[in-house]
Amino acid sequence: MLLYNINITQELVSFKEAVEYGIGSEGGLYFPQSLPILSQDILLDNHFIRRSLRIMEILIGDAFISEQLDYILNTAFSFPIILKQVDEHIFVLELFHGPTLAFKDFGARFMAQVLLAIIRANNQVEDFTILTATSGDTGAAAAHAFHNVPNIHVRVLYPFQKISVIQEQLFCTLGGNVQTFAVHSDFDACQALIKQCFINKELRHKLRLNSANSINISRVLAQSLYYYEAVAQLDLKFKKKCDIISVPSGNFGNLTSGIMAKKMGLDVKQFIAATNLNDTIPYYLKSGKWNPKATIPTISNAMDVSKPSNWPRIEEMFKQDDIHQTISGISINNEETKKAMRELYHLGYIAEPHTAIAYAGLKRNLRPGQNGIFLATAHPAKFKDIVEEVLDIDLEIPNTIALALNKANLSQVIDNNFETLKQCLLKQCLPKDINTR
Ligand SMILES: *Cc1c(COP(=O)(O)O)cnc(C)c1O
Repeated sequence: MLLYNINITQELVSFKEAVEYGIGSEGGLYFPQSLPILSQDILLDNHFIRRSLRIMEILIGDAFISEQLDYILNTAFSFPIILKQVDEHIFVLELFHGPTLAFKDFGARFMAQVLLAIIRANNQVEDFTILTATSGDTGAAAAHAFHNVPNIHVRVLYPFQKISVIQEQLFCTLGGNVQTFAVHSDFDACQALIKQCFINKELRHKLRLNSANSINISRVLAQSLYYYEAVAQLDLKFKKKCDIISVPSGNFGNLTSGIMAKKMGLDVKQFIAATNLNDTIPYYLKSGKWNPKATIPTISNAMDVSKPSNWPRIEEMFKQDDIHQTISGISINNEETKKAMRELYHLGYIAEPHTAIAYAGLKRNLRPGQNGIFLATAHPAKFKDIVEEVLDIDLEIPNTIALALNKANLSQVIDNNFETLKQCLLKQCLPKDINTR
């Protein structure tokens, strides 16, 4: 696979380079030069790892031999993907059975394995720094995927007090090669700081920076795999075809993967880009105007993003085709989110706010006779407080969460200031305990 920089189209890189660099010159995203059309024989293969291997052999078989790909996929995706029926025509794809209980585990764990394979192949001795910003779940997934891996340091930025305590405890308590920074601002500011780090030559050179956030192409590729699984399971278990998939969206990596899957042959007519009040994309689809507002905190905080950095990749796939035939945008406010959670509960399904937004978006768009799938991106217990409050129930806490809640938070609180961050990264300043805040 060859990839080009969306901003500088003559800048071409191999898949391995795209994974290592993360982002191209002038902050341009990498995108595959061409996408193959996969055969139905492959797409309806009923075994997730085997199907994924066949797909990855076609996509990146020039970068890794089959045995390596097989190892990468088996190591990264060591947890189940489950499709459940919620209503006659409505299904939910549970993507939260990985170690950090959110769909981010797919991208982060695949990327970690790919990077490790590259490092081993290069006989690399220098250390790497994974620097990433998180709106709550990416950080946890990346930190876990790279925790205690030799020669790799993990640095994660997140907005101070704007993620849930459980989200925070899951990755800010790891220690070892993982260092976390709570920034006095919002997620967009964290992303902006990261961008500054990557264009800073000194940091880039000294720390050998690599980003693990959803702009890395390996994450986007990995996520496209479960879209095929959704359609295959619907066919196999329920003998139905899928018309619509609804994707709860923030930074739009997940939807990018879905659209790529469709470009490569996924048999789905329409996607719903379901956001919370941060409605840059639904507004853009409706009006044609790019008008990001200040980020609004909501009960679906992992989607509190007003400048979604993956959107250029989606635009790139609709240069010829009309985007409105494939993607419908919808923005769901907090009250509507809670209403959707209650509605699902009455149908016998417990969902956290992000997942409920996907459901609400699907409900509004599904026409009689159509079948739809909404993506469950996090385990309800990860958003325990709001789920218990809205549904008036007591949730059982999975073991992973119970263990993390008992550990000390090792994060350091910093101002939204590039120089401060730079000094911290270069000096490797000592983490402060912020449990006492
Ligand atoms: C990150 C996240 C999203 C949004 O995914 P994007 O790829 O950023 O659009 C949705 N739900 C949960 C639980 C998340 O962690």
